[in-house]
Amino acid sequence: MLIEVEVCDVCRRLGVPVTSYTITETESGRSVVTVRCGEHAAPFEEVLGQPVEAVAAAETPKPRQAKKAATGRQPRGQRAERQVMTREQIDAAKAAGKA
Ligand SMILES: [Zn+2]
Repeated sequence: MLIEVEVCDVCRRLGVPVTSYTITETESGRSVVTVRCGEHAAPFEEVLGQPVEAVAAAETPKPRQAKKAATGRQPRGQRAERQVMTREQIDAAKAAGKA
């Protein structure tokens, strides 16, 4: 019977949850996959900014936002005014800036 267990590349402790990281050096294109426990992944997590759980949690609200956008009531006039300026408006803004 063969049991394969993924362990941390550094400490190789059994029964410790691990995460695999792909590290790529952009200049030469060198790439390596390393498996690390929480402790030995600390330098990577520091660079990545957030723990894996936080990233997963941040990704969940995405579908909600899409729904909101579809059903949200936004006044059309206000949006258009902000994005499109007539030449007169631009000139007026320039004049206001100079004065
Ligand atoms: Zn480790």
